Parts: sequence; C-alpha cells; structure tokens
Amino acid sequence: MHMKTTPKVLVIYTGGTIGMVNDPLTGSLTAFDFGDVYKHIPELARLNVELTTHAFPHPIDSSEMNPLWWKEMAELVYNKYHDFDGFVILHGSDTMAFSASALSFMLQGLTKPVIFTGSQLPIGTIRTDGKENLVTAIEIAAAKTENGSPRIREVAIYFEYSLYRGNRTSKVSASSFEAFRSPNLRPLAVAGVHIDYTGETINASSGLELFTDFDTSVALIKLFPGLNWNIYESLFDTEKTKAIILETYGSGNAPSDKKFHELLLNYLEKGGIVLNITQCSTGRVEQGKYETSSFFEKNGVLSGFDLTTEAAVTKTMYALGKSAGNVELAKDILQKSVCGEVTV
Ligand code: ASP
Repeated sequence: MHMKTTPKVLVIYTGGTIGMVNDPLTGSLTAFDFGDVYKHIPELARLNVELTTHAFPHPIDSSEMNPLWWKEMAELVYNKYHDFDGFVILHGSDTMAFSASALSFMLQGLTKPVIFTGSQLPIGTIRTDGKENLVTAIEIAAAKTENGSPRIREVAIYFEYSLYRGNRTSKVSASSFEAFRSPNLRPLAVAGVHIDYTGETINASSGLELFTDFDTSVALIKLFPGLNWNIYESLFDTEKTKAIILETYGSGNAPSDKKFHELLLNYLEKGGIVLNITQCSTGRVEQGKYETSSFFEKNGVLSGFDLTTEAAVTKTMYALGKSAGNVELAKDILQKSVCGEVTV
C-alpha cells in the first residue's frame, strides 16, 4: 500500500501583480518580500503541504520576460526536481502563456507538475483573485492519485478555476479574472467544490531532459488587408531570420500579392523556414483547402495546424536551437507534436 507523506512543493516567485501590495504611504503597488508570504496568506499554513519558497532577487514585470529567464526557471526546476513533488511558478499574466509554452519544450519528459499562476489583482487587495489561484495551484502541484503518482505530469497554467495545458493557452483578457483560454484543448482540470481532473495529462516515460539553448532568429508577421510587403522585405533574409511565422486568415489563407510570393519563394529556396498559423483563436490551418492557401502547400510552407501563437514562437525557437543548423531536422520537429502542443 502507498504510504502517505506530506507533499513538498517549491513555489518560485518571478514577479508580476500577484506578489504586490499597496504601499500605504504612496498608494502605489510594490513587490512584497516573498519570504513573508504566510503573513499575506495565512491560509497556506493550513494546507497539508510542505512549502519552500524561492524568489527571483529582483522580481520582474512579465513584459521583461526572455529566453534567459526561461532558462533560469527551467534549470531551477531541473536541479530541484528530485527534492519536490511539484512546482508552482508565480508569474505576471501578460506573458505567462509564452513562458509556460517555453518551459514545456525546455523540460521534456516531466512526470511531476509545474504549475504557473498569477493574478489580475495584487494579493494585498481585498478582492484579489491571487489567493484562490495560489492556494489551488499549490493543491494541484501536490495532488497524487490513489497509487501515489502525480495527477499532473506536465507544465500547466492554473487561473480562475481552470487548469490548462501551458502550451495550449493564450491570455485573452486584460481585466477579467478569467484571463486565459485554451481554445483547442479542454482543461486538464476544473476546480469547484472538488478539483475534477477531467482532461488527459501527458504520460512521459523517457526521463526528464533539460534543453535551454533556444535560437531567437524568428520573425512573426500578422497579415492584414493592405499590408505593404516593401516594409517587411528586410525580414526575408536567411542570414538573420531563420524562420518566419505567418499569422494568416481563417484556415491558413493569404493574399496572392506578387511581391509577397516573390519574397516567400526566394526565402524558401535559400533554406528559410515558414510556419503558417491562423489568426483565429479556434480551429486550425488546412493548407490547400482554398486557392488562397494552395500556394503555401505547393511551395513548402509548413502548416502550424492548431498551434497558438505563443506555442508557435517558442516551439520554433526550440526547433532551431535543437536542430543546430540542420533545416530538415528543424522542419521535422515543427511538423510533429513534441509535448502535446499541437494536434497534427
Ligand atoms: N503587468 C503584469 C505582468 O504581467 C500583469 C500581471 O501580473 O498580471 O507582470
């Protein structure tokens, strides 16, 4: 029989609204000393979880996020992996979906939960959503099945009663407590009176691997009627831009603009990678369905299927880093599901 021990969770505070309180003197929001978290949320002491906290020395607004911070977070989880049952990462909500996607590629083969959360209102305000988000994220990070294995074995985002696969998530509201959506995959869990683990979590068996060498030579172009390709011309240079992500219309459609086609063909010929994702938040790219996307299909533009923009950007950085100049390998990576981010 499985012996129950108190689960251990590491809470990593990177910054963002959740860790802020109102300074009574100035009235402005300032980061509180995260070591004092019990003072602000005394309820934490009543959870049956052994908590350890680790704060970034200078908490950042998540607009400052970049691959070096992702590396720092991933290494922290990797180095402490055997000391804890689960991990909670407190992060500003603005770029949380990028960070959760990035960490899912950096930490493949997870068999423990890495749960991102944050809040729209600071923990020090009366109507804060931060307390519930933090307390439930910790509960999920500590949750085990009857036979003692972790309920969640991947990177996820918990926000306002829903747990989503991290690399399927986008921030959809700047003000609602329901700030996130996972448009193409149902939630991994929903919190009500009980936490219902209704979705399927990933079942990795190959062991945890850390890979943090992302290559940021990526451009993202969102199409709009009237886009002037002359302005974008310099991006189609394989010396600088190894991959271009095109956010196209509907099921992957684009105009038949002569200049655009010229730039694209020349770029593809020189070994550039082009990934086609849709601007729509639900549904997927189906190249060749309409005349306006068959040009892509014929000329080697890759379908991004139902990838979110956040997952497409971080997956491309991962694929370029992992393939180290081998274009065919990078394309192979982009055409398969690496860690549940896409339905191919
Ligand atoms: N600007 C903040 C950030 O992303 C907003 C938040 O924490 O939700 O860091």
